[in-house]
Amino acid sequence: MSHHNQPTTEWADRHRRALTTRHTHEDVLTDRQFELLLEACSVLPAPHDFEARFICLLAGRLGLRAGEIAHFQTTWVNWNRRTIRIPQHEPCQCGYCQRQARQEATHNSGLSVEGAIESRWHPKTVASARLIPFDLTLRLELCLERFANRYDAFPRSRSTINRRIQAAATEADLPGRVYPHCLRATAASYHAYKGVAPVPLQALMGWSDLATAQKYIRISGTATADALRRVHHR
Ligand SMILES: [Zn+2]
Repeated sequence: MSHHNQPTTEWADRHRRALTTRHTHEDVLTDRQFELLLEACSVLPAPHDFEARFICLLAGRLGLRAGEIAHFQTTWVNWNRRTIRIPQHEPCQCGYCQRQARQEATHNSGLSVEGAIESRWHPKTVASARLIPFDLTLRLELCLERFANRYDAFPRSRSTINRRIQAAATEADLPGRVYPHCLRATAASYHAYKGVAPVPLQALMGWSDLATAQKYIRISGTATADALRRVHHR
């Protein structure tokens, strides 16, 4: 009988895992929570206040990853076209890049540490190199202009990013954990809710897979509601 029980147990295990695994989209902040987080940034001592605001807006509204923010250069900004270009490669030998390079070399037998460092920094995947429009709100535009007035590049380490987000989240007294990737998911959810279509959402977020965009759109329910209303309210 065991060969009969086996698939059932496997299915039950998979089902249980699906129900208990925490997904990033569950940690997405609501619009209200995101506003509270931004408010809390301004309470932090300078220059942590501006750094925290820059991080929260770029991650939570434009979907940048922590590694992308840590390596942000003002030369990535096209002020005429109002876009940020996440490049395929930005030469860097920061502590984070060196750690990542060592890890990459460990997992790829054909790759030396030196070779891995040479290709650093690079975004997570090939699809991550992308153009991000930032003139979606005046708040975003002003934040980028103020950043460019002060800095040529993001002035802190990769690990500072988590600390600034954590400081703002603590100050805002938000429930649950707030971390860079949950802000990125917050951006995806925000745009999906506004009704952005799968292909542009995928391009904005730099996902390799269109299914990820479709998942956020399905969860937001906006496209479902729009489609049903078009049919029923005509
Ligand atoms: Zn680096």
